[in-house]
Amino acid sequence: METRQSKAMFAEAEKVIPGGVNSPVRACRSVGCTPLFIERADGASLYDVDGNRYLDFVCSWGPMILGHAHPEVVAAIGAAAAAGTSFGAPTPAEITLAEMVVEAVPSVEKVRFVNSGTEATMSAARLARGYTGRSMVVKFDGCYHGHADSFLVKAGSGLLTLGIPGSPGVPEDIVKNTLSIPYNDIDSLEKTLTDERLDIACVIVEPVAGNMGCVLPDPAFLQRLRTLSTERGIVLIFDEVITGFRLAYGGAQHHFGITPDLTCLGKIIGGGLPVGAYGGRAEIMDQIAPDGPVYQAGTLSGNPLAMAAGIATLKQLQRPGFYEELNDKAATCAQRLREIAAAGDIPVQINSIGSLMTMFFSTDPVTDFASAMKADTTRYAEHYCNMLGQGIYLAPSQFEVAFISAAHSANDLEKLQKMTEWSFKKMA
Ligand code: PLP
Repeated sequence: METRQSKAMFAEAEKVIPGGVNSPVRACRSVGCTPLFIERADGASLYDVDGNRYLDFVCSWGPMILGHAHPEVVAAIGAAAAAGTSFGAPTPAEITLAEMVVEAVPSVEKVRFVNSGTEATMSAARLARGYTGRSMVVKFDGCYHGHADSFLVKAGSGLLTLGIPGSPGVPEDIVKNTLSIPYNDIDSLEKTLTDERLDIACVIVEPVAGNMGCVLPDPAFLQRLRTLSTERGIVLIFDEVITGFRLAYGGAQHHFGITPDLTCLGKIIGGGLPVGAYGGRAEIMDQIAPDGPVYQAGTLSGNPLAMAAGIATLKQLQRPGFYEELNDKAATCAQRLREIAAAGDIPVQINSIGSLMTMFFSTDPVTDFASAMKADTTRYAEHYCNMLGQGIYLAPSQFEVAFISAAHSANDLEKLQKMTEWSFKKMA
């Protein structure tokens, strides 16, 4: 495909934007490409500035569960914009969306809207610390919770390994209060959460990991996490920025039947506009200012356009059968891809749940960060380039998920399968 205009734009962008992008993975470095510049999108399609069309399996990294430019969502944003874009004062739409979230998500009795997933997790951790009077945050290797300092801890291995900064600029003094332990490892969990010397305020987890590629939780791991947190008075935070309103209307907590104390949301609840939210038990949420002493604020929080887009999106998701249909077609697609890989003798592991999927180029099952790291990133890059050349837009990294939306038709998924078969033949 001809991508001359994108290449020229990237050269321009690099002069004025660090790396030419406003979020690092967009630079496509790990697959050795220059990024495409997108002009518009509708349904399951993206159109770049050179006029090429792509079938989109990134879906803006998750928010576009209905596909792009859904007419109801676009209309709602248009109507909200015409009425004024920001007031810095309460609006009726905030109540509507809050009520919808409270009704949908089992753990949420009260919810506060912010502007990104990062703000949601950062604020939830502060709230957990304020509520418990403790200082330590426990996370899991390979989980991502946005770019607040406390969470930028290099994935360490082994129990009780104190985190070190994952980025220059994050002081040791901050990350010494973050502990990262292996995902799905019940022994580590047990040892960490029962260690009386650790002043643990909260444990934060992606109930389905999406940021080391899709890694499914052992349900017993999530259950043990819930039990131990309760026993130790530790605030359990589910980071459902990806899984919220994605796995099910009630998120992963509904799917697994495990209720955390706090939940972080983002992506889908903003219908493609910048939004995040954190919510949970009223008793904890009431510790936030102005009722409580834990401070958190935002000039654009609860922005009327974002609220309108979120409400319009959630209304579509309430359609009976929405998730059954979406999850069924994604499961069928994942199964077909497994068959294609087996027939082509390409060693891949396809982890999938709901409408999330990752194809790891690996011979071993992927159950945690260590096994995810065994994936062959060179092979992924080759596959990525093959697919992009055929108009299939995958995540430009082995360690991300593919998102399937309601807008992907049977033909679209068949095209994905056919092109995968073709790519695998080319790679054999
Ligand atoms: N939490 C999870 C699970 C995420 O996947 C992300 C982003 O992808 C975040 C938090 C951060 O969200 P944002 O990029 O909106 O700050």
